[in-house]
Formats: sequence, C-alpha cells, structure tokens
Amino acid sequence: MTRPVYLDYNATVPLKQPVIEAMAAALAECGNASSVHRFGRLARRAVETAREDVAALVGAAPRQVVFTGGGTEANNLAIAAAGAGRRVLVSAIEHDSVLKAATEAALIPVGPQGVIDLAALQAMLERDPRPALVCLMLANNETGVIQPVAQAAALARAHGALVHCDAVQAAGKLALDFVQLGVDTLALSAHKLGGPQGVGALVIGDSVELRPLLMGGGQERGWRAGTENVPAIRGFGVAARLAVQDLPAVLALAALRDHMEERLLRTAPEAVVLASGAGRLPNTTCIALPGLPAETQVMALDLGGVAVSAGSACSSGKVRPSHVLRAMGADAALVAGAIRISLGWRTNEQDIDHLLDAWTTLVARARSHQYPDRATVPVSAA
Ligand code: PLP
Repeated sequence: MTRPVYLDYNATVPLKQPVIEAMAAALAECGNASSVHRFGRLARRAVETAREDVAALVGAAPRQVVFTGGGTEANNLAIAAAGAGRRVLVSAIEHDSVLKAATEAALIPVGPQGVIDLAALQAMLERDPRPALVCLMLANNETGVIQPVAQAAALARAHGALVHCDAVQAAGKLALDFVQLGVDTLALSAHKLGGPQGVGALVIGDSVELRPLLMGGGQERGWRAGTENVPAIRGFGVAARLAVQDLPAVLALAALRDHMEERLLRTAPEAVVLASGAGRLPNTTCIALPGLPAETQVMALDLGGVAVSAGSACSSGKVRPSHVLRAMGADAALVAGAIRISLGWRTNEQDIDHLLDAWTTLVARARSHQYPDRATVPVSAA
C-alpha cells in the first residue's frame, strides 16, 4: 500500500527532524529555567535562545516575545490585555480563539473574496470615538486569504486604536515583520510552522500594559505564570529558525498548488475555488463541490488515502457551516461542500497525483449518486 498522503498542513505540520532531535535532547535534560544553579541556567539558556529565534522570525525584539501554551492562549491573552477598557472590533473571519474571546465585539465585514472591508473599518472607527482594539488575522486558516494588516493598522492608529494580529497561519508561509505591520500584539503557534503542539507566543509591543491571564510565579516577565515547558519551547525555537531558512521552498508551493487547482477543476468543472481572486497563502486551497457535503468528501478522500479537512471542522471533529465562507457571502451549496487542502514541506508531485486519483473517483461517484447523503442542498447560509 502507498503511504497515506497528508494535505492538512493548516491543521498541524509534521515535525522536522532537527525539531525532534532538539526536543528529545531537552527531554533528556533536567532543569527549571527559574533555578539559579547550573541545571537551571542551561534550561534558561535554551528558553532565551528560542526566544531569539522566534523574535527573528517576526522581526521583533526578543524581550517582546512571551511564550504561551499555543495560539489560542496567545489570542486570548492579547484580547484580555490590549482589549481591557476598550471596545473591540474583530474581522468576521477570525479564528474562534479570537471570536469567542471577544463575544461583545463588533464584526468588521469582509468582501466576497474574503478580504476585510477597510472602508467599513474606517466607518466603524469614525462612528464611535471610544478607544478601540482592532483584531485582524494576517492569513485566514480556511481560505488562506491574506489580509491588508499594515493598512488596517495604520487606519486604526490614526483613530487611537490598538491592533492585535493573529499571525498563526501566516508565520512560516509569508515573510513577517512586526514593526512594518505596525500592530501592537501578534499571535504565533509552534505547531503550524513545524514545531510541537501546545506552545506558542504572543509578541507584545511596548504600548500594551502588563495584564496576565495566568497568575503565579511571575515567569515570562510577569506575562505568563507557570514553569516554562523547556522541551516544547526549544522545539519552537528550532522550528522558527528552520521556517526562516525554508521560506523560499514554502513560497514555491504556490506553483504546485496552482497546478493542483487547475487539475481539480479540469476533473470537476462544477467545483469552485473560493477566494481564488485574492492574495492567498502559497499552500492553501479551499474548493467546493456543490451538492456533496464536505464531510462525505473528506471521508471519501481519506478512504482514497488522502487527508484533507472540511472547510470548518471544530475540535469535536464535527463540521458546521463555515462562518468564514458565510461572511464572504458564499452560496449555501458552496459553504456545505467546501473542503480545505493545505500543502507543506513534505508535499510533492506524487502526492498531488494521488489526490487527483482520489478526487476523480469521488467526483465520478458523486455524479452517479453513489453517496447516500448526497445533498440535499444545505441549511441556509443566512
Ligand atoms: N489562529 C488560527 C488562525 C488558527 O488557524 C489556529 C489553529 O487552528 C489558532 C489560532 C489556534 O492555535 P493553537 O492550535 O496553537 O491553539
């Protein structure tokens, strides 16, 4: 049997060998980074080296990097700190770790290609003079659409607002510069760029006052109490360094992805690539086969040996209509039939051939009504 093909890099990325080796070495060592003895000092050095590597990935100063337990925590921390005493404006396509951390927030609309409506943001900022926090992701996890964060940040600043940017999906897939983006906080997650799960970082500009979510020992300059997870942080640092080195190879994935889209559409001209007219991450395709539920497609492709995900799968694995595609005003049949294919550092031409084989079978079966739950055009996308 051929090896299963993994095309779900936006969900999580396979670890690179140097990351595994660095983490294994760290697991074999003992030391609390807060201890003053030699064991502690070695652990501290590992944490500070990783901080330098993560800072270099995003053009920030190492002292601005606070390690967290992942991207979700980084987003929550940013909103708790930068959003304190401010009204919060969030783009309608943010990840749930932003949307659910800011339930009172006003939603900034996006256009049909999934790009934030800057004129709407300006109007929202002008309408209400109270200080605001604007949250805008750099690249969307479902569609890969890249947002005009620097422009939004300039607008926000002109109105005295702070800006938080979720760069979890963009890091490692685009060149990043914290200063040029002009944002106040920036969230990162190690496992989306080749590091371990359960560790991330918030880059915090000097404009944001200390307001931790976790109280305790005062680690991370008081921003995040709790003994540092040294092996995970070390793995994150190595992954960040490799992400800088490997960026040209990731950018080159765009050619493979574009060719893949052409082939998918040639097989199924009824399919639609969402947001194909927008600037997108080089590795991401969101494609909808109208009339066949995304879950059915994901299962059929999995049986064919290819792992992709439904447009929007929450942590329980259940699929619900994507708030991202709905915010773009996509037709209900597209929303229900959208899957995400995301490529990465191990993806090659053979993987795409394998996907095309599985897709061709899927499309043929769908056309001959071989799937029991063949839609039934879905719930309203209102
Ligand atoms: N933000 C975006 C855009 C994401 O895609 C994800 C993960 O899917 C997160 C935040 C959450 O990151 P983590 O899995 O590290 O909590």
